Amino acid sequence: MTLRKRSFSALALALAAPSGAAQAAETSSGGTEYTPLPVVSGVKCTSMCSGKTRVQAGGTVRVAGKRLRDVRTVVFHGSERTKRDNVHVRVRPKDSRSFRAKVPLAAKTGPLSVWKSKTVGSEPSSSIAVLPPPPPERSAELTPSTGPRDPGAPQLETGISAGKVFFAGTKVRFSYRVNGTEPVPVQIELVHVEDELIVRRWQIDAVEPNTVHTIRWAGKPAPGLRASAGRYVFRMTAQSSDGALARSSSTSDATRDAFDFYGHKFPVRGRHNYGEAGARFGAGRGGRSHQGQDVFARCGTRMVAARAGTVKFNQYHSAAGYYLVVDGYKSDYDYVYMHLQERSPFKPGDHVRTGQMIGRVGDSGNASGCHLHYEMWNAPGWYRGGNPIDPLRYLKGWDSWS
Ligand SMILES: [Zn+2]
Repeated sequence: MTLRKRSFSALALALAAPSGAAQAAETSSGGTEYTPLPVVSGVKCTSMCSGKTRVQAGGTVRVAGKRLRDVRTVVFHGSERTKRDNVHVRVRPKDSRSFRAKVPLAAKTGPLSVWKSKTVGSEPSSSIAVLPPPPPERSAELTPSTGPRDPGAPQLETGISAGKVFFAGTKVRFSYRVNGTEPVPVQIELVHVEDELIVRRWQIDAVEPNTVHTIRWAGKPAPGLRASAGRYVFRMTAQSSDGALARSSSTSDATRDAFDFYGHKFPVRGRHNYGEAGARFGAGRGGRSHQGQDVFARCGTRMVAARAGTVKFNQYHSAAGYYLVVDGYKSDYDYVYMHLQERSPFKPGDHVRTGQMIGRVGDSGNASGCHLHYEMWNAPGWYRGGNPIDPLRYLKGWDSWS
């Protein structure tokens, strides 16, 4: 076996080890330890490819090299030379010269490295282009499932109502039909694709065959769980009385019965712009400071709640005009909307969903031109001891997907 002296290289340091543990296996005396390291000699796309070294997130790559059998983790490093965009996948190679690894949806273009343990890993490979995953395949019509099916197992059909779902927003519906002659038990899991975390599970003991059934998910995870943004899939399993199993999709399929989940929705539902310097958070306002970001749009443009929550205030003020303050649900922030065209119909204590219409863009109060004056205050909230934060980067993020 070839042994190679472990070296500190600037890159290896920057591309820190999976858990962030110290990388080099230096002994306490400062001497050097020799460790047989895995080596990556090449990476090739094997599924969902746009080229030999171009893979769509959710696809797979074949990693070739030496001493790979005991590798347990693949780290996709992304482009930054920090750990921030590192994404890990677990692997169990059967061969020391090559194995296949799934490219996580969160992986970014860059090199990968392979690790036997926290301190024993390869040098980074050359860069692999990771392209965005294909969009969810929205099909409200039921279509025959594509997952594995034992002989004699029921035939499944499934469909989904939306390709984008917002936290505590409109419910997403998953519909299914089991084709067969007898009622069968069905299990449906809602899975966060990136980490395979199951956020909800439905167990139905006897599903009537040849009939369309629907379950709904309101964009809220089970108690104690966080629903992270990202791709989710409904995965269904049905079992015949003799134990034969059918699955609605394979576990590597990230597009069927899938949706992208977001924590917020952009509040102005029409053409808009962020104005000039005076519209920015912190701009001068005659001895005071502008506590929000202005978003300009045509008078009457629909305005929706960026985040679900409970209405705290719905009032009129000579400067703010008609305004609404919403205490964000499972959020540290209060969300504040000003200069509404008319008073919002919601009363204090009312619940609003993410994406629910709360009013229209206007110029009530002291405003020059119709715009949303938007504020975000951290806990304990708006004029209750919290502070306003600059919301622009959040707005721009939400603007990019909704
Ligand atoms: Zn303003």
